[in-house]
Amino acid sequence: MAYTDTCQIFDAKQQDSLRHGGAILRDCLKYVAGLVKPGISTLELDAAAEEFIVSRGGVPAFKGYHGFPGTLCTSVNDQVVHGIPSAGPLLKIGDIISLDGGVIFDNLYTDACVTVGVGEIDPKIRSFLVFVSETLENVIGEVVKAGAKVGDISSFIEKSLQRGGFGVVRTLTGHGLGDTLHQFPDVPNVGKAGTGFTLPVGTMIAIEPIATMGRPDVYTARDNWTVLTKDKSVACHFEHSILITESGPEIVA
Ligand code: MG
Repeated sequence: MAYTDTCQIFDAKQQDSLRHGGAILRDCLKYVAGLVKPGISTLELDAAAEEFIVSRGGVPAFKGYHGFPGTLCTSVNDQVVHGIPSAGPLLKIGDIISLDGGVIFDNLYTDACVTVGVGEIDPKIRSFLVFVSETLENVIGEVVKAGAKVGDISSFIEKSLQRGGFGVVRTLTGHGLGDTLHQFPDVPNVGKAGTGFTLPVGTMIAIEPIATMGRPDVYTARDNWTVLTKDKSVACHFEHSILITESGPEIVA
Protein backbone atom coordinates (compact mmCIF):
# COMPACT_ATOMS: atom_id res chain seq x y z
CA MET A 1 0.00 0.00 0.00
CA ALA A 2 1.02 3.65 -0.38
CA TYR A 3 1.70 5.42 2.89
CA THR A 4 0.44 8.87 2.05
CA ASP A 5 -1.95 9.64 4.92
CA THR A 6 -1.21 6.85 7.36
CA CYS A 7 2.06 5.53 8.71
CA GLN A 8 3.58 2.11 8.12
CA ILE A 9 3.70 -0.37 11.02
CA PHE A 10 6.46 -3.00 10.98
CA ASP A 11 6.10 -6.54 12.30
CA ALA A 12 8.90 -8.24 14.24
CA LYS A 13 10.55 -9.71 11.14
CA GLN A 14 10.48 -6.36 9.31
CA GLN A 15 11.91 -4.64 12.37
CA ASP A 16 14.82 -7.07 12.29
CA SER A 17 15.38 -6.24 8.62
CA LEU A 18 15.36 -2.53 9.45
CA ARG A 19 17.92 -3.14 12.19
CA HIS A 20 20.09 -5.08 9.78
CA GLY A 21 19.89 -2.45 7.02
CA GLY A 22 20.34 0.29 9.59
CA ALA A 23 23.52 -1.32 10.92
CA ILE A 24 24.95 -1.41 7.39
CA LEU A 25 24.17 2.29 6.99
CA ARG A 26 25.54 3.29 10.41
CA ASP A 27 28.75 1.37 9.81
CA CYS A 28 29.03 2.83 6.30
CA LEU A 29 28.76 6.43 7.52
CA LYS A 30 31.29 5.73 10.27
CA TYR A 31 33.67 4.19 7.75
CA VAL A 32 33.31 7.01 5.22
CA ALA A 33 33.59 9.69 7.93
CA GLY A 34 36.95 8.10 8.75
CA LEU A 35 38.09 8.60 5.15
CA VAL A 36 37.33 12.33 5.17
CA LYS A 37 40.61 14.26 4.91
CA PRO A 38 42.10 17.17 2.99
CA GLY A 39 42.73 16.28 -0.66
CA ILE A 40 40.03 13.63 -1.07
CA SER A 41 37.11 14.16 -3.47
CA THR A 42 33.47 13.64 -2.63
CA LEU A 43 33.35 11.22 -5.57
CA GLU A 44 35.98 9.01 -3.87
CA LEU A 45 33.94 9.07 -0.66
CA ASP A 46 30.86 8.12 -2.64
CA ALA A 47 32.58 5.16 -4.31
CA ALA A 48 33.77 3.94 -0.91
CA ALA A 49 30.24 4.16 0.47
CA GLU A 50 28.75 2.24 -2.43
CA GLU A 51 31.34 -0.52 -2.20
CA PHE A 52 30.79 -0.78 1.57
CA ILE A 53 27.00 -1.03 1.35
CA VAL A 54 27.06 -3.58 -1.47
CA SER A 55 29.74 -5.68 0.27
CA ARG A 56 27.43 -5.97 3.28
CA GLY A 57 24.45 -7.09 1.19
CA GLY A 58 22.62 -3.76 1.11
CA VAL A 59 21.46 -1.64 -1.81
CA PRO A 60 22.38 2.08 -1.97
CA ALA A 61 18.97 3.73 -1.61
CA PHE A 62 19.79 7.15 -3.02
CA LYS A 63 21.46 5.99 -6.22
CA GLY A 64 18.96 6.53 -9.02
CA TYR A 65 16.34 7.97 -6.64
CA HIS A 66 14.57 10.52 -8.87
CA GLY A 67 17.76 10.25 -10.94
CA PHE A 68 20.21 11.16 -8.16
CA PRO A 69 23.63 9.94 -9.37
CA GLY A 70 25.34 9.18 -6.03
CA THR A 71 25.19 6.71 -3.15
CA LEU A 72 25.67 9.62 -0.75
CA CYS A 73 24.58 13.21 -0.76
CA THR A 74 27.83 15.04 0.01
CA SER A 75 27.14 18.65 0.99
CA VAL A 76 30.12 20.88 1.75
CA ASN A 77 30.09 24.15 3.77
CA ASP A 78 27.25 26.34 2.43
CA GLN A 79 25.71 23.35 0.66
CA VAL A 80 22.81 22.34 2.90
CA VAL A 81 21.62 19.02 1.45
CA HIS A 82 21.62 16.95 -1.78
CA GLY A 83 25.18 17.81 -2.83
CA ILE A 84 26.22 15.63 -5.78
CA PRO A 85 29.51 13.72 -5.33
CA SER A 86 32.11 15.06 -7.74
CA ALA A 87 35.78 14.69 -8.70
CA GLY A 88 36.48 18.25 -7.61
CA PRO A 89 36.97 20.55 -5.87
CA LEU A 90 38.87 18.41 -3.35
CA LEU A 91 38.10 18.76 0.35
CA LYS A 92 40.39 21.11 2.24
CA ILE A 93 41.27 21.78 5.87
CA GLY A 94 38.50 23.68 7.63
CA ASP A 95 35.67 22.45 5.39
CA ILE A 96 32.67 20.64 6.81
CA ILE A 97 30.83 17.94 4.90
CA SER A 98 27.54 16.18 5.50
CA LEU A 99 27.42 12.52 4.51
CA ASP A 100 23.78 11.58 3.95
CA GLY A 101 23.03 8.01 2.92
CA GLY A 102 20.28 5.43 2.61
CA VAL A 103 20.23 1.65 2.51
CA ILE A 104 17.64 -0.78 1.21
CA PHE A 105 17.70 -4.19 2.90
CA ASP A 106 14.90 -6.74 2.43
CA ASN A 107 13.12 -4.00 0.40
CA LEU A 108 13.00 -1.68 3.42
CA TYR A 109 14.67 1.74 3.59
CA THR A 110 16.77 3.37 6.29
CA ASP A 111 18.21 6.90 6.07
CA ALA A 112 20.87 8.69 8.14
CA CYS A 113 23.30 11.60 8.00
CA VAL A 114 26.32 12.96 9.88
CA THR A 115 28.27 16.18 9.37
CA VAL A 116 32.01 16.10 10.01
CA GLY A 117 34.94 18.49 9.78
CA VAL A 118 37.88 18.15 7.39
CA GLY A 119 41.02 18.32 9.55
CA GLU A 120 41.09 21.20 12.02
CA ILE A 121 37.97 23.36 11.81
CA ASP A 122 37.00 26.71 13.30
CA PRO A 123 35.99 26.14 16.97
CA LYS A 124 32.76 28.08 16.39
CA ILE A 125 31.83 25.71 13.57
CA ARG A 126 32.83 22.73 15.76
CA SER A 127 30.44 23.98 18.48
CA PHE A 128 27.71 24.40 15.87
CA LEU A 129 28.07 20.75 14.77
CA VAL A 130 28.07 19.52 18.36
CA PHE A 131 24.99 21.60 19.19
CA VAL A 132 22.90 20.38 16.24
CA SER A 133 23.98 16.77 16.76
CA GLU A 134 23.03 17.02 20.45
CA THR A 135 19.69 18.53 19.52
CA LEU A 136 18.96 15.35 17.56
CA GLU A 137 20.08 13.08 20.42
CA ASN A 138 18.09 15.14 22.94
CA VAL A 139 14.83 15.13 20.99
CA ILE A 140 15.09 11.36 20.66
CA GLY A 141 15.88 10.91 24.36
CA GLU A 142 13.33 13.38 25.68
CA VAL A 143 10.43 13.48 23.24
CA VAL A 144 10.26 10.54 20.82
CA LYS A 145 8.03 7.69 22.01
CA ALA A 146 4.71 6.08 21.23
CA GLY A 147 1.94 8.60 21.91
CA ALA A 148 4.13 11.62 21.15
CA LYS A 149 2.89 13.97 18.45
CA VAL A 150 4.98 15.00 15.46
CA GLY A 151 4.51 18.62 16.56
CA ASP A 152 6.23 17.80 19.86
CA ILE A 153 9.34 16.77 17.92
CA SER A 154 9.20 19.76 15.58
CA SER A 155 8.73 22.25 18.39
CA PHE A 156 11.60 20.78 20.43
CA ILE A 157 14.01 20.99 17.47
CA GLU A 158 12.94 24.51 16.50
CA LYS A 159 13.29 25.86 20.04
CA SER A 160 16.62 24.15 20.61
CA LEU A 161 18.19 25.43 17.38
CA GLN A 162 16.85 28.92 18.02
CA ARG A 163 18.29 28.85 21.53
CA GLY A 164 21.63 28.02 19.95
CA GLY A 165 21.25 31.08 17.73
CA PHE A 166 21.13 29.05 14.51
CA GLY A 167 18.98 29.32 11.40
CA VAL A 168 16.33 26.59 11.09
CA VAL A 169 15.79 25.50 7.49
CA ARG A 170 12.00 25.24 7.20
CA THR A 171 11.67 23.79 3.72
CA LEU A 172 13.43 20.48 4.48
CA THR A 173 11.80 17.94 6.77
CA GLY A 174 12.18 14.54 8.35
CA HIS A 175 9.78 11.86 7.25
CA GLY A 176 8.34 8.41 7.65
CA LEU A 177 10.11 5.65 5.75
CA GLY A 178 10.04 1.91 5.21
CA ASP A 179 8.60 0.60 1.94
CA THR A 180 9.73 3.91 0.42
CA LEU A 181 12.38 6.47 1.31
CA HIS A 182 9.93 9.29 2.01
CA GLN A 183 6.41 8.58 3.21
CA PHE A 184 3.86 9.71 5.80
CA PRO A 185 4.31 11.49 8.15
CA ASP A 186 6.42 14.56 7.39
CA VAL A 187 8.50 15.50 10.45
CA PRO A 188 9.28 19.24 10.13
CA ASN A 189 11.98 21.02 12.13
CA VAL A 190 9.54 23.76 13.09
CA GLY A 191 6.10 23.36 14.63
CA LYS A 192 3.80 23.49 17.58
CA ALA A 193 3.85 21.02 20.47
CA GLY A 194 0.65 19.04 20.96
CA THR A 195 -0.29 19.14 17.28
CA GLY A 196 -0.07 16.73 14.38
CA PHE A 197 0.07 12.97 13.95
CA THR A 198 0.41 10.75 17.03
CA LEU A 199 3.21 8.17 16.74
CA PRO A 200 2.10 4.57 17.30
CA VAL A 201 4.24 1.61 18.41
CA GLY A 202 5.87 -0.16 15.46
CA THR A 203 6.40 2.74 13.07
CA MET A 204 9.67 4.38 12.01
CA ILE A 205 10.56 8.00 11.32
CA ALA A 206 13.66 9.83 10.13
CA ILE A 207 14.37 12.92 12.24
CA GLU A 208 16.81 15.36 10.65
CA PRO A 209 17.58 18.78 12.08
CA ILE A 210 19.11 20.96 9.35
CA ALA A 211 20.57 24.27 10.51
CA THR A 212 22.71 27.18 9.36
CA MET A 213 25.11 29.51 11.14
CA GLY A 214 23.42 32.43 9.41
CA ARG A 215 20.04 33.10 7.85
CA PRO A 216 17.82 30.07 7.25
CA ASP A 217 17.01 30.93 3.62
CA VAL A 218 18.07 28.43 0.97
CA TYR A 219 17.89 27.94 -2.80
CA THR A 220 18.43 25.08 -5.25
CA ALA A 221 21.41 25.26 -7.60
CA ARG A 222 21.18 24.89 -11.39
CA ASP A 223 22.05 21.19 -11.08
CA ASN A 224 18.49 20.88 -9.70
CA TRP A 225 19.78 19.03 -6.63
CA THR A 226 22.20 20.97 -4.46
CA VAL A 227 20.48 23.15 -1.86
CA LEU A 228 22.63 26.07 -0.65
CA THR A 229 22.29 28.87 1.88
CA LYS A 230 21.48 32.23 0.28
CA ASP A 231 23.86 34.11 2.60
CA LYS A 232 26.67 31.53 2.06
CA SER A 233 26.73 30.65 5.76
CA VAL A 234 27.70 27.07 6.55
CA ALA A 235 25.01 24.49 7.20
CA CYS A 236 24.87 21.11 8.87
CA HIS A 237 22.58 18.12 8.90
CA PHE A 238 22.25 15.19 11.29
CA GLU A 239 19.73 12.40 10.83
CA HIS A 240 18.68 9.12 12.43
CA SER A 241 16.07 6.55 11.44
CA ILE A 242 14.20 5.68 14.62
CA LEU A 243 11.87 2.78 15.35
CA ILE A 244 9.11 3.49 17.85
CA THR A 245 9.05 0.44 20.11
CA GLU A 246 7.03 -0.51 23.16
CA SER A 247 10.00 0.35 25.36
CA GLY A 248 10.90 3.65 23.65
CA PRO A 249 12.77 5.02 20.64
CA GLU A 250 15.36 2.77 18.99
CA ILE A 251 17.93 4.33 16.68
CA VAL A 252 18.34 1.87 13.81
CA ALA A 253 20.50 4.12 11.59
MG1 MG B 1 15.99 11.81 5.28
